[in-house]
Amino acid sequence: MSVLRKLATIILVTIILSLILTNNAAAQNTIYFNGQDITSQIETVSREGELLIRARDLAELLDADLTWRPALKSLEMESQSVTIKIMANSRYIQIENDAIRTEAGLQLVDNQAYIPLAKSIEAFGYLLEYQRDNEELYIFQPETTINNVSWQEDGNQLQIEMDEITPYRVLHSEDGREITIEIDKAEIDQEFSDNISNNNYYLRVVNVPDRALLRLVIKSRTPIPFQIDGGVYEHEDSLVLSFLPQLKDIRLNEDNLLSVEATGEIPDARTKYLSESRKMIIDIPSVVIGNFDLDIEEHPLIKDIKVTQHDLDPVILRIEATMANGDIFKPVQREKSNLLTFKPGQRSEITDLEYAAGSFSFASSSALNPELFLLESPPRLVMNLYHVNRGSGIQDKIEVNNPQITSLRTARFDDQTVRIVADLEELTGYEWVEEQKNGLYYYTVNLKNKFSEIKTEDNADYQYLNILMDSRANYEVKKFNYPHRIVVDFKNTLNNLDDFSRIEKSSLIKDIRSSNYQLEGEEVTRLVFELNDYYSHRVESYQDQKGIKIALAKEYLNPEMKAEKIVKSQLIVIDAGHGGFDPGAIGATGLEEKVSNLAIAKATAKQLSKTNHKVLLTRDSDEFHSLQNRVKYANDRKADIFVSIHANSFNNPQTGGVETYYNQHESNQNRFLAEKIHDKLGRGLKINDRGIKESNFYVIKYTKMPSALVEVAFLSNAVEENMLRTKSFQDRAAALIADGILDYLEENGGE
Ligand code: ZN
Repeated sequence: MSVLRKLATIILVTIILSLILTNNAAAQNTIYFNGQDITSQIETVSREGELLIRARDLAELLDADLTWRPALKSLEMESQSVTIKIMANSRYIQIENDAIRTEAGLQLVDNQAYIPLAKSIEAFGYLLEYQRDNEELYIFQPETTINNVSWQEDGNQLQIEMDEITPYRVLHSEDGREITIEIDKAEIDQEFSDNISNNNYYLRVVNVPDRALLRLVIKSRTPIPFQIDGGVYEHEDSLVLSFLPQLKDIRLNEDNLLSVEATGEIPDARTKYLSESRKMIIDIPSVVIGNFDLDIEEHPLIKDIKVTQHDLDPVILRIEATMANGDIFKPVQREKSNLLTFKPGQRSEITDLEYAAGSFSFASSSALNPELFLLESPPRLVMNLYHVNRGSGIQDKIEVNNPQITSLRTARFDDQTVRIVADLEELTGYEWVEEQKNGLYYYTVNLKNKFSEIKTEDNADYQYLNILMDSRANYEVKKFNYPHRIVVDFKNTLNNLDDFSRIEKSSLIKDIRSSNYQLEGEEVTRLVFELNDYYSHRVESYQDQKGIKIALAKEYLNPEMKAEKIVKSQLIVIDAGHGGFDPGAIGATGLEEKVSNLAIAKATAKQLSKTNHKVLLTRDSDEFHSLQNRVKYANDRKADIFVSIHANSFNNPQTGGVETYYNQHESNQNRFLAEKIHDKLGRGLKINDRGIKESNFYVIKYTKMPSALVEVAFLSNAVEENMLRTKSFQDRAAALIADGILDYLEENGGE
């Protein structure tokens, strides 16, 4: 042996020795079997970087039959109808008809057979989790089996069928193109096939080595607008993830029908025409761009089509079609919920131009996309109708002479366009309504209602608020407390109240203000009367519902009224979103949503427990609860109020603010609760007010009592993440949520 080779051998031996030594050190891991520390009951060694267990110990652990054939130096172990075979000098473990490669294979140490721990125990269906930091190895029996993963609803829902729902979490990659679902202590059924990718998503199921969890990774070419709090459902023993439908196909067929198809239900699109650039814009809400086919080649009608994801917050898909020669495509009555169809405009005939106080209407033989705008001096509303002829009953001019419209005129504006002009008393806003009846389209233009007078009156017992409108009012009166306010929301109403100083403020009225407010996707004009004190109120209408009279009692007028104010003790359930295995959203610098949710939930409960109400938390520590259990918890206890606390996340780090969700219910109690809570948060949290929103989040959909879900702030926004970390912000949010709940109970909990 040359000196060089000797040296090499010595070095090699040293390396191996040190490897064994370090591996032996690593073999000092603490090992847990089904939660019990078994380190002292078993012998382990390390070889080739692999942890081996004495075969006899493993057999005992698993209650397995062990057979050793000395002649063959082969070992057989059988437990619960699984048999593994392993021979000395082979790296392979044979499991039924499969052979799995290991690093060390079977090793004899002091005449005892040692076999690779991880691979053997996995062969018997156990799961392993190795926590490197504290050198702890956990061996579990799986708590659930994933039986099937499949796309439902045309690829808009991913259903994960399991034996039972174990802790899971959903993670969203920063670029929004990847969603990961991790399911704890889960194994996958042997029959399971991984062939579940579709046109839009690539799905991979990964068994994560060293971690007793199953990972499902969903990838997409385009960002996946998926809201973790709203996109996860539980259905019996299945987890269901809902995705927005994706654009599938745009085509123009031989009959010149332009069709836009998505993988799921599409809401009605908003279309508009830019006559100068000959462009038709189709905006479709809640649809994602995805992988789509575009079949418009050298078509005589359409020069070019461009598709973009116009917005993600809220989600809007935009189709921009450039027409070859000024043609117009009109929406055709829908037959399928996932399909929008347009056809080149036949000239429509308009008929039956009529008027009423504050509105005018007409019928059309096909759908129209009118262009509406206001012109000043003289004030008038102009409506351009493309591809239209004037039919019977359409005169050049009708004298109307009602308080808002003086006359209606129609004229052909150019070769393609008929124009309707409403001469107005003064400029005002308008809304536009389309209805379809017996194959005809009816269009109504409602001029916005206006405030004509606001008066306050006073006598010994009552303070009156009189609001008189130009036409019949569509309104809702609400009471908010601390500070006391009477709020009146008006639909389709112009906010012409820029000068309140004219209005006399007396006795109970501290201040009057107005604002424009989004309610259920509609702009409302909100009148707020700030009050010095409050006892009770009642609402009457007068002058054919053009007037609203609110009477505020100046003091308890009689004992019954006083009794009304005492709210009997209610059961309030506060739900801290996520927990345990499920961190929820993860902040820009790592704050886990479950942490701030719990802090705010506990602080809210603390605030509420100072009152006569009873408060329960669905969790008061860092532990996982399924959505079903949270709902069941509140329903079983017949809670009176359920409020779930979350923090938001979005793939734009600038997005921030507070929003409150409710599930639409005919009683409107969910909305009232959300409004009360959001009133406090929107004004008190001093961050962007994103308003209240309707949604189908699991916990607020299935709880049977009035419920709301608060997204306190955005973890994806570093500034707000920092706020969510601080106790002062958590306490402020909690105090505001508690105030909102109390305010709701004061108005609605007395009965
Ligand atoms: Zn959440």
